[in-house]
Amino acid sequence: MNKTLDRFSHRLSDVFGLVFGSSLHRSQAQNKLARHIVALNEKTSPAEIINEVADCLKDILGYRLFAFVNKKNAGVDVWLDPRMYKTSIEDIIIKDFQIMDAKDLVYLNAHEDQDACLEKFSLDSLVHYDHKEENCYSRIYMMPSRPITLFHDDVVNIVLRGCSAALSRQIKIQQLQNAAAIDPLTGCYNRRAFEVQLKGHAAGADRHKNPLSVFMFDLDHFKSVNDTYGHLGGDEVLKEVSRLVRQNIRTEDVFARYGGEEFIAILPKTDKTYAIELADRLRQKIFALNIPFNHLNIRVTASFGVAQLGAGVDIVKLVEDADSMLYKAKLNGRNTVMPGLIKLHRNEDAQSLTQAKKSLFCTTLQG
Ligand code: GH3
Ligand code: MG
Ligand code: MG
Repeated sequence: MNKTLDRFSHRLSDVFGLVFGSSLHRSQAQNKLARHIVALNEKTSPAEIINEVADCLKDILGYRLFAFVNKKNAGVDVWLDPRMYKTSIEDIIIKDFQIMDAKDLVYLNAHEDQDACLEKFSLDSLVHYDHKEENCYSRIYMMPSRPITLFHDDVVNIVLRGCSAALSRQIKIQQLQNAAAIDPLTGCYNRRAFEVQLKGHAAGADRHKNPLSVFMFDLDHFKSVNDTYGHLGGDEVLKEVSRLVRQNIRTEDVFARYGGEEFIAILPKTDKTYAIELADRLRQKIFALNIPFNHLNIRVTASFGVAQLGAGVDIVKLVEDADSMLYKAKLNGRNTVMPGLIKLHRNEDAQSLTQAKKSLFCTTLQG
């Protein structure tokens, strides 16, 4: 990093030497830019890095509007000046980066006001600068408040290079963290990452007095899947089942491979009743799943155990409770969820019940 800063600093001297006549102005602007570049390297999230870039360019160039796009191997991060009309710039980004769907853009900063656009801009007055690193491609869109000079050009390029280097380093750190936290076969969190996440979520649930539940499931007779279709067939089942579950839970839920053919999920802000309903929906989807393998269809079932975090925030007990419920589900004949949920709606089935039980919607848990 020292080498990078050295290079920047020599480059800065050249740029400012050309542009500013007075040595006072030269050294003031040079100091500003150097401070921003150092600050860039101290930031620990993409949003912080780009905020720093926006501050720097505003500080030195006084631009009117600014947007930043970083295309990575997986996904496109976007930072927009909150005063910018989102739809117009989004159209430009989608076209420039050949993105199929606006949903693939991940916004790094909040951008709430859609109709009250504060600054109108003409597409012709937007300029952009690009920089490529080995694992990302960055572009700054800017609307300068005065004509672009050689000096502006150089400053933006220096800042963009500093910013791209910082983002690229972060992507590498993220990849290393993922490698340590993600199960390579299924793409789910591994057990170690699950335990770290559970600690954090349980503390949050306790602090905000929110319920938190977990479900755990184990594929039934999985050994015979391996025996019938081979280990590769078994692997395909693990991948497809975990994909199915990921597609059917919320983004804030944490889904992990707990061991061999056993999975677990943290469901923040979820009570046991809802967790059981969710687990049963997943059980049915797994039951209905056809997994193509070598021109055959593999079918599997799963047994689920559900538990809710109790007072005292005992996460060891939480996992033990889910595990013992899963064990009960196996004893109960597999392809089932424990505790089981009996839902009685106000209909003919409920007619034989007492008046009290018939009130609107009656839910009981059986352990
Ligand atoms: P049960 O219904 O009681 O859970 O029976 P089961 O056969 O699923 O349970 P058992 O513990 O006897 O067998 C689990 C099998 O899962 C044995 C093991 O070889 C297999 N397994 C564990 N990890 C993997 C994996 O990564 N890939 C494949 N293909 N198989 C795996
Ligand atoms: Mg099993
Ligand atoms: Mg097992």
